[in-house]
Amino acid sequence: MAQEVECLFCKIVAGIIPVDIVYRSDEVVAFRDITPKAPTHILVVPTHHAENATELAKIAPNSLIAMFLAAGEIASVEGLAGYRSVFNTGTSAGQTVFHAHLHILGGRSFSWPPG
Ligand code: 5GP
Ligand code: ZN
Repeated sequence: MAQEVECLFCKIVAGIIPVDIVYRSDEVVAFRDITPKAPTHILVVPTHHAENATELAKIAPNSLIAMFLAAGEIASVEGLAGYRSVFNTGTSAGQTVFHAHLHILGGRSFSWPPG
């Protein structure tokens, strides 16, 4: 699995930075967001480093399938009837960690369109 030495989420995948892990496979690690934006806020992170979801689709497309399958399993375990799944891509869209990650948010109501 490709890793970047200075990448926060690569360090979390490698176990160097401790997090509250809720799901792990060869392709995916999922853990609770440190500043949750909903009662349930979980980050699903590919073990393969890519800057964002589009780059991941180019270099490790099966990771995206694994991420969405993980999201469904996590939602079931967490008892979420529904959930919002979000990829922020680029600083202007609110991306702050440049290792692709899927936000899973649930446990409250959501408006549409999102802000
Ligand atoms: P982004 O803004 O890039 O879409 O999402 C990055 C997310 O990572 C944010 O929701 C932020 O709270 C979360 N985050 C940043 N650093 C850490 C950390 O050290 N541990 C955990 N669990 N979450 C983090
Ligand atoms: Zn990384």
